[in-house]
Amino acid sequence: MSITVAKFGGTSLANGSQFKKVYEIIKNDPSKKYIVPSAPGKESKEDTKITDLLYLLYDLSSHGISYNDVFSMFKDRYSRICQEINLDLDLDPYFDEIEESIKNKASRDYISSRGEYLNGILLSKYLDIPFVDAKDVMIFKKPHVLDEEKTYKALGKIRETYDQAVIPGFYGALKNGEITTFSRGGGDLSGAIVARGVGADLYENWTDVSGFLAADPKLIKNPNHIEEISYAELRELSYMGASILHDEAIFPVISQGIPIAIKNTNAPEDLGTRIVPQSKNVKGTSEITGIAGRQGFSVINIEKIRMNRDLSFHRKVFSILEANDIYVEHIPSSIDSLSLIVKDDDLQGKKSRVISEIKTLCNPDRVHFVSNISLIAVVGQNMKNHIGTSAKLFTALAQAKINIQMITQGSSELNIIVGIDTDDFDPAIQAIYKAFF
Ligand code: ASP
Repeated sequence: MSITVAKFGGTSLANGSQFKKVYEIIKNDPSKKYIVPSAPGKESKEDTKITDLLYLLYDLSSHGISYNDVFSMFKDRYSRICQEINLDLDLDPYFDEIEESIKNKASRDYISSRGEYLNGILLSKYLDIPFVDAKDVMIFKKPHVLDEEKTYKALGKIRETYDQAVIPGFYGALKNGEITTFSRGGGDLSGAIVARGVGADLYENWTDVSGFLAADPKLIKNPNHIEEISYAELRELSYMGASILHDEAIFPVISQGIPIAIKNTNAPEDLGTRIVPQSKNVKGTSEITGIAGRQGFSVINIEKIRMNRDLSFHRKVFSILEANDIYVEHIPSSIDSLSLIVKDDDLQGKKSRVISEIKTLCNPDRVHFVSNISLIAVVGQNMKNHIGTSAKLFTALAQAKINIQMITQGSSELNIIVGIDTDDFDPAIQAIYKAFF
């Protein structure tokens, strides 16, 4: 019998009616063995996620400010879910335990983890499946850093002991039992780790959309749905801002080749998107899988005649960036110039220092900044089988009268990235989409 790990996000478990949908999804498929829930998320746009409520609770209590209203909101949400799904569970002991820990100055990680913990308990009782506390299987080396070896060993034991289990996402514990968490949205990562640890055949990630789209629907009306995408394509699109899945969630499953299925709890019959090691190259389909873009970049342009004959030039430039904690995102270059694309956030407050250090150490002919840059990536592993992809891209931008300031294409031919002025961002995505789809 194949094993599926199913992770349900916050909106999938936001209230009783969502719990009922999740119940049906699990009960209709006996292969769904290990269930990883998030804390209840937003019921509507204006609503607050339970995890955000818990962070607020921590902030208030750690400043000695009354947190009673916030704690009541927390309790009400779980009580209401129990009522809506007719679950006969006395929540008071759990609430008391949490309140006690707040009074005893529990850590921020501990408090924020209680959303998943309590939701896991509710779901396990509702499904009548054993509950496994994540603190016993997600073992961390230090706060926020997983001990993979110990964790996979513990999860292997879970597979031997339990045919089915609910294991809450987002948190785990240090060897001394102290609770710690992943970064925000880390339930996706927990699900992937569980999938690898129990040797799953499939990792399902249930959310509130039917998978990935070929472009941002805020900019393109009804963009194409992506049925299948490779790990590598997903990495490129996620980096560029297509965010449905936590961007680290593919790493635990990559080495095992476990596919991920993005599915919609509100429309379970929809195909969703399958993330696979290598996607099929379907003849006759578009040479690209998707388009994504990201704003907020600057370029540091460095010019020096015969730069390419100076063995140490690049090393010196990069050592300055390293010393200033600035990550380089892309590096288009020519024989006499080097352009470093960096995130504005990384540069903040460091611009003039970096310029003056480059001038001192590298002795360039000229250094200058260009700001207000956006990057747009067209991504597709099919691209390498098509001639003329870049021609199509550049023609589309030229016809839309958009100036391309920078171009990169890796030799793997998985993507082409163009840098443009941020003012041209929306029309650029629209023009490219029209040309390819
Ligand atoms: N509840 C956590 C958060 O809101 C983790 C998750 O939902 O994946 O970040």
